[in-house]
Amino acid sequence: MTETIINRRDLSFLLYELLNVERFTSHPRYADHSRETFDAALETAYKVAYDHFLPHCRKNDLEEPQFDGERVHIIPEVKEALRQYIDTGLMVAGKDYELGGMQLPATVAQSCTAVVKGANTSTFSYAGLTVAASNLLLAYGTEAQKERYAYPMLEGRFFGTMALTEPQAGSSLSDIKTTAVPEDDGTYRLTGNKIFISGGDHELSENIVHLVLGRVKGARPALRGFRCSSCRSIWSTTTAPWASVTMSLWPA
Ligand SMILES: Cc1cc2nc3c(=O)[nH]c(=O)nc-3n(C[C@H](O)[C@H](O)[C@H](O)COP(=O)(O)OP(=O)(O)OC[C@H]3O[C@@H](n4cnc5c(N)ncnc54)[C@H](O)[C@@H]3O)c2cc1C
Repeated sequence: MTETIINRRDLSFLLYELLNVERFTSHPRYADHSRETFDAALETAYKVAYDHFLPHCRKNDLEEPQFDGERVHIIPEVKEALRQYIDTGLMVAGKDYELGGMQLPATVAQSCTAVVKGANTSTFSYAGLTVAASNLLLAYGTEAQKERYAYPMLEGRFFGTMALTEPQAGSSLSDIKTTAVPEDDGTYRLTGNKIFISGGDHELSENIVHLVLGRVKGARPALRGFRCSSCRSIWSTTTAPWASVTMSLWPA
């Protein structure tokens, strides 16, 4: 079969002959794994990629997301593909068993990602952003933040974004103006403008967790004093003034 994504023989050569990923199975973390389980995960990735991601790759470009002033409209194939990606466990393939993952070595998990991403980068990016946002919270969040935001993202119920760029600050993130003012209850009131936020609004998930880069009020204008706050899009500027970040949306 002619591969239109990543050539299976090439990937197999890279993983098993060049990188010898089977050696990871002697490590306690990967003790349940074998070449068979690696191949099974990769086969699932190819199946999801060919059946659900590749077929609408061109349609994504022809019928790009539209914002009608109230809602973002995205072709239905995107939601179905992401549901398959989540339900097969591929989105959390490298995560711990306790987090619902398959505990695959990163090299194999990332290979699965590459297969799906190679089939349709645009649709994949909603999941990629979600994993990235959850990774940040798993690394630096409190237990309460993990419960509230990271775990629902790993379950695929919530999706995530990274809101860094502002009209006056793209590469130069030290120039951002969004401020984070501490409140008495431990939360931060965010004020500012963000643009180009991939996956910034959609109806693909129950909720969207925006990780918003802001400067803690009073911090000196340098690469210090930043705070990455999470705010749920369900709390709009009208219901939650402390989360009043205006974002120009850029659906992935
Ligand atoms: C499709 C897409 C999706 C995006 N998604 C997100 C998102 O999800 N979240 C988010 O926060 N942002 C997002 N962005 C914004 C993206 O991160 C910014 O566009 C990027 O950081 C560059 O900023 P800028 O566009 O203001 O360009 P600028 O920073 O103004 O750069 C313009 C040019 O100057 C060059 N340049 C900049 N600084 C220097 C320097 N110091 N030395 C030499 N050359 C320099 C750059 O290489 C570039 O060629 C997205 C952008 C795109 C196009």
